[in-house]
Amino acid sequence: GVRVRFAPSPTGFLHLGGLRTALYNFLFAKKHGGSFILRMEDTDQSRLISGAADRIEDMLEWAGIAPDESPRNGGDFGPYQQSQRLDMYHQAADILVQSGAAYYCFCSPQRLDLLKKEALRSRQNPRYDNRCRSLHHDQVAEKLGQRQPHVIRFRLEEGVEPFEDMVFGWNRHEVAALEGDPVIIKGDGFPTYHLANVVDDHFMQISHVLRGSEWLISTSKHLLMYRAFGWKPPTFAHLPLLLNKDGSKLSKRQGDIFIEHFAKKGCLPEALLDLITNCGSGFTKNHPGREIVELISDFDASRLMTHSATLDLEKLPEFNRMHLVHRINNAAKCDSLVKDLKGHIRQAYGTQIQEKDVLQNDYIKRVLHLRKGHITCLHDLLAPDYAYLWIRPSVQLEQLENVSSEAHNILALAMEMILRHTSKQTTEYLNLELKRLAEKIEKCQYRTVMKVLRLALSGLQQGPSVAEMMVSLGPTEIQYRLQRAME
Ligand code: GLU
Repeated sequence: GVRVRFAPSPTGFLHLGGLRTALYNFLFAKKHGGSFILRMEDTDQSRLISGAADRIEDMLEWAGIAPDESPRNGGDFGPYQQSQRLDMYHQAADILVQSGAAYYCFCSPQRLDLLKKEALRSRQNPRYDNRCRSLHHDQVAEKLGQRQPHVIRFRLEEGVEPFEDMVFGWNRHEVAALEGDPVIIKGDGFPTYHLANVVDDHFMQISHVLRGSEWLISTSKHLLMYRAFGWKPPTFAHLPLLLNKDGSKLSKRQGDIFIEHFAKKGCLPEALLDLITNCGSGFTKNHPGREIVELISDFDASRLMTHSATLDLEKLPEFNRMHLVHRINNAAKCDSLVKDLKGHIRQAYGTQIQEKDVLQNDYIKRVLHLRKGHITCLHDLLAPDYAYLWIRPSVQLEQLENVSSEAHNILALAMEMILRHTSKQTTEYLNLELKRLAEKIEKCQYRTVMKVLRLALSGLQQGPSVAEMMVSLGPTEIQYRLQRAME
């Protein structure tokens, strides 16, 4: 069956490029009824960031593309962290050493440095000169006996190992002509990426490797290792780069490409996945508004192109607006939005909201339905303009009477008006009704009537029109606020 993996290094947090690689793997797995595996490539001990592995898996779950097998979920092919598989790499390296496909190298860092400097001086690619290849058996045994620091290198065979990439087609790299023998076990006993990757993909029975195109040129080297082990390699599909709108590389150094940043800002995962897939190839058709089920059915790996994809992040709010409408229209999803929004409101205004004023779910749901299509994310509803929706004003009648001695009368009439027309409260209709209401109070200008009502309903001197406020607050909440102001 199909088994694919996403293999990030926990040397940083998940960013857009990584999410896209994970997503394509997920889609490929689900399209073919296969398994999607998460493997942590944590062999570079000096660059590990504590907590990153957990947070990467968190973010995949957040995005709705949780792996079937992973450090967290386990599986039949674990462990899923490379740092816990060191024995396997050592056994594999031993096999290669035994067969002569790999060898111990005792060259000192100073010597390697010198080689590098010489190469640069003569304007050549720095590469190891494979000197330790020719060490005699006894010399190796002696140095090992003396516990001399060493690495293990893979002996690159001359010639090409052509392979057909699912995206980039036929590749022929003469690896040995380009680079020195690569290290496979480092001085600290950890494997390098190249060995660990090959060993794991083999033992985890990975059928297809979908990864960033930056690994395309390393693949020939990996294939030489598969051959040395006598293993059947997986099929490779290298994914084109993801670029910024201006053509620059989506860099990990830009703070705003981390998935956690989007999650925190209130971005919906489906909006992010929709945007990422709409800018790239690999689908029978492209159109915004797709959710994961549709992405899976539209996905077709044979349509992956080699040209890079351009991500236009300026479109994200638009995508989010669209997907927010979808969620609000779905009863179950809307309920969980209500819960989220309630949490945000508590966080933003907690100290100003009294226990007896805790907002009802139905009220919040109403606001969501009214604002859908206008807001790009839930956080928009926390803008100062909307604060009156969440914080009930505490206005005394006295205060309103300072504005107009008719205040009580105005409130009573407004109450009557609301009770009469609970069902057809559009802005236009309410505007007419409010005008009529103001006419009934002879001693008072329209402007003053509105001022009293705005204050009573929101505690605000200025702000949206009273009719607009009334539409947003809805009859129940209006009654509650008017009643309170009259006491
Ligand atoms: N650890 C590698 C990376 O983070 C994985 C590359 C691969 O998928 O083979 O890019």
